[in-house]
Amino acid sequence: MAELETEVRYIRGIGEQRAKLLRKLGIASLRDLICYFPRAYDDRSVFRSIDSLVPDETACIRAMVVSPPRLSHIRKGLDLVKLRVSDDGGSMEITFFNQPYVRDSLKPGQYYDFYGRVGGSPRRLEMTNPIFEPEGKNELTGRIMPVYRLTASLGQNLFAKTMRQGLDEIEGIIPEVLPSSVREAHKLAHADFAYHNIHFPADSESLSLARRRLVFEELFVLACALRFLKERRIEKSGLVPKDADISKFYSALPFSPTGAQRRVIDQMISDMRSGKPMRRLIQGDVGSGKTLCAAAAAYYVFCSGFQTAFMAPTEILAQQHFGTLEKMLSPLGMKVSLLTGSMSQKQKREIREALAEGEIDILIGTHAILSSGVDFKNLALVITDEQHRFGVSQRSLLTEKGENPHMIVMSATPIPRTLALIIYGELDISVIDELPPGRQAVETFGVDEKYRTRIINFTRKLVSEGRQAYFVCPMIEESEALNLKAAEKYFEQMRTKIFPDLRVALLHGRMKASEKDEVMASFMRGEADILITTTVIEVGVDVPNATLMVIENAERFGLSQLHQLRGRVGRGSHKSYCILFCEDGPANPRVGIMCKTNDGFKISEEDLKIRGPGDFFGSRQHGLPEMKIADLSADMKVLTEAQNAAIELLAGDPDLSAPGNQALRRRIEELFELNQGAFS
Ligand code: ADP
Ligand code: MG
Repeated sequence: MAELETEVRYIRGIGEQRAKLLRKLGIASLRDLICYFPRAYDDRSVFRSIDSLVPDETACIRAMVVSPPRLSHIRKGLDLVKLRVSDDGGSMEITFFNQPYVRDSLKPGQYYDFYGRVGGSPRRLEMTNPIFEPEGKNELTGRIMPVYRLTASLGQNLFAKTMRQGLDEIEGIIPEVLPSSVREAHKLAHADFAYHNIHFPADSESLSLARRRLVFEELFVLACALRFLKERRIEKSGLVPKDADISKFYSALPFSPTGAQRRVIDQMISDMRSGKPMRRLIQGDVGSGKTLCAAAAAYYVFCSGFQTAFMAPTEILAQQHFGTLEKMLSPLGMKVSLLTGSMSQKQKREIREALAEGEIDILIGTHAILSSGVDFKNLALVITDEQHRFGVSQRSLLTEKGENPHMIVMSATPIPRTLALIIYGELDISVIDELPPGRQAVETFGVDEKYRTRIINFTRKLVSEGRQAYFVCPMIEESEALNLKAAEKYFEQMRTKIFPDLRVALLHGRMKASEKDEVMASFMRGEADILITTTVIEVGVDVPNATLMVIENAERFGLSQLHQLRGRVGRGSHKSYCILFCEDGPANPRVGIMCKTNDGFKISEEDLKIRGPGDFFGSRQHGLPEMKIADLSADMKVLTEAQNAAIELLAGDPDLSAPGNQALRRRIEELFELNQGAFS
């Protein structure tokens, strides 16, 4: 009897050679093999009578060989085997190219099942190179067949055969990970049934039962694992800041915080005072004022003499946060510093020294603050902004800089709650569900080229009223170099031909950090009317006087990206506009959604539907195990169900010690092992 971890080359019937081919697909063990799920299915379950066939369809027939197969050598490298078959209703000719052995395997007078594409004309039907097997064998025909994602050197039939050999081995050794209470409550099939039927479904109902069970299992195990982690983390103790008077922070602000901001700040304070390290995700739509919440937490730990690290994904953002936080926090006596990759060695050294001495209270920077040699005296709080740009492992690198420091993660890409629970499952989640007062929804229009002149005039009008505008220029290619050229050409045209009388500036990703800062700072000071830019501007940039966002070739952007870009305007009290240039104007589905709503959560739900969860859930982004079967856009309902089931199970058995939960516990441990980096 084999184990699931047995290497495939030791499975009966699978030799070294095939194991090598399987390796290319990432299949090493028996478990890998049976978890290599079909990408589609081919329904060959219905046998058709020959007289009902029409050319160009693909079908199964059961027919008798009525003429002895004839082999002919047409020329070197081309052999044909031809034969005639018939059933009750009709007959047809079958041809095999370059399969001379077929002559001896098809015997006149015997019935076979064939599956293939029908050719010829309605009066002279034929089939070329069909798949066949003796009548009733039901391995390749007469059933629903799996279709796998394969390489050229390993065909579907051979792979299906391999899968059968694998499945023959799992009888009795496949652990039932789902506790029987869960299986019963959610009407889920047994593991054994599920693995057989996901590959070789007995019928379509069995297939959907199998799939549901496996999707549920995958999401359930993950949900349990993440909750388990949360518990484990809670065992550690965190630094507890002394109680501080946050109203001092509030009264130093030029405006009063929204109710949502206050609520989130209160949540963070009670987290930090709980004795456990805080791990909190702050989700809020663009412009909801996440920075202020982070600043409040930094002030709070500062009152106990602790330091904060604040990490932003780009230099522009780090620079901007530095400006904002310095204004907000230095009047309160905090020393705010910036560390970025582009600073001189000397500047960096000075910062590092001051940091180690504890002279700096909050250090803002890009990932440069992760580099070794950057040591804090007593780091108590780590904040990462625009989380989707950081991997989970970077997140953990930062927390290693202190003793279980508190952690705040700010995400500017609102994602549906269910999904957030999975992706950020080990974090507690706060949502800022209220925008600062006086914000008006950004009015959005999808337009085609016919509107160009009008938009140009509109831009002039806004600029004459003292406002500023962004023009995001076309993305041409994957290649940075080509994009750069496009941006520069576009810039020249805007500057010299379209707006020769206005102040037009250019910002793109290839500029040196110092140049970027320079351009951004001058735009912020109002020294340019129009900023031509690429998507470097996408995240976080805050210039409240800018009220127009024009996006060229909007069809090339994803919804979340469009929403981020639009979020650069509508940040002050002036009415703001977003113009989406697009070949098919408002008829473009994404543009249509953008025109309909400003709500980031709704948009991300739509995005998920259109784009699939890959971008949200690609393992590269967050270090979670890759989903083998669950499709998070289609399986949202199962996700919620699995999540609730996980919560319920762990409530009853928090350390999974009940005998019926042991297989689950082992599975979770395996998952931990495999993804240790992600979970530390
Ligand atoms: P985001 O959540 O997108 O990071 P920011 O923190 O950059 O948003 O805040 C967006 C803008 O709103 C900033 O200009 C900030 O000063 C302003 N702002 C934040 N909170 C409030 C508030 N309570 N009242 C008024 N303006 C606010
Ligand atoms: Mg922000």
